[in-house]
Amino acid sequence: MLIDSHCHLQFRAYKKERESVIAVCKEKNMLLNVIGTHTDTSKSAVDLASKYDWMYATVGIHPIQHTAIEVEEEGSTFKSRGEVFDEAFFDTLVATGQVIGVGETGLDKYHIPEGVAGKEAFEKQKVLFGEHVKFAVKHNLALVIHVRDARDPDEPSTHEDMIALLKQYKEEYGDQLKGVIHCFTGGSAYAQAYIDLGFYLGVGGVITYPAKGNKYTKEHLADVIDTVPLDKILTETDAPYLAPQKYRGKRCDPWMSEEVAKFIAEQRGMSVEELKKYVRENFKKVFGV
Ligand SMILES: [Zn+2]
Ligand SMILES: [Zn+2]
Repeated sequence: MLIDSHCHLQFRAYKKERESVIAVCKEKNMLLNVIGTHTDTSKSAVDLASKYDWMYATVGIHPIQHTAIEVEEEGSTFKSRGEVFDEAFFDTLVATGQVIGVGETGLDKYHIPEGVAGKEAFEKQKVLFGEHVKFAVKHNLALVIHVRDARDPDEPSTHEDMIALLKQYKEEYGDQLKGVIHCFTGGSAYAQAYIDLGFYLGVGGVITYPAKGNKYTKEHLADVIDTVPLDKILTETDAPYLAPQKYRGKRCDPWMSEEVAKFIAEQRGMSVEELKKYVRENFKKVFGV
């Protein structure tokens, strides 16, 4: 079984071809986790997942959606929303039985404005992350965590902030705190810190990009993932973004997580089937399905 532990198949990017993309995924015997990024996309993730027994939903508010800004991502722009976390609304989504995770939530220094407004936006992200943590513990759900560094390479890594926050919450909630750092692009030390905190690492298409000029990560991600225990890795895409190297420049589809699985398997000197077995078990441990 092939797993995409993080995709946005409910997004407008699939408006015309969603059915055909779903058909390819089904043919490849996939299991998908469709991730919400704000109120509406959380609801549509649940609606989509409810139609297929091999699809699940994760609901929450992406850190960039807390501040209303113009966002440019992979050539397309959209206006983020300035949303708050409406717990009662998210309770109703969890009640559908389709929800296996809370997120994507986290910290994103890349998209915040410069100066004082940026600092305020970042503090707001921290508060809203805390609300997601509480909500996840309340429902015994896994967190799907997004961490992105600032544009300025001299800025301290956002992982420093996230690890500090998780340590704090770990003291409060112990083993009830669980989840995945999605699209992990940090270095080996950060990988270890998350694993020590009981978290899993989601690996996406970025791992297949050439090391030179890879703007998403400072260290060579393939080397980092080489040292991560196999029982801590999940495959993902973040579709429609970040298509693996083979399809770079095209819309990313969830079935492209096959390229990620192949890459890791080759890197670790094992068959792709064996790697997929690990990922299937890991998915079950984190998300309970
Ligand atoms: Zn993300
Ligand atoms: Zn995402």
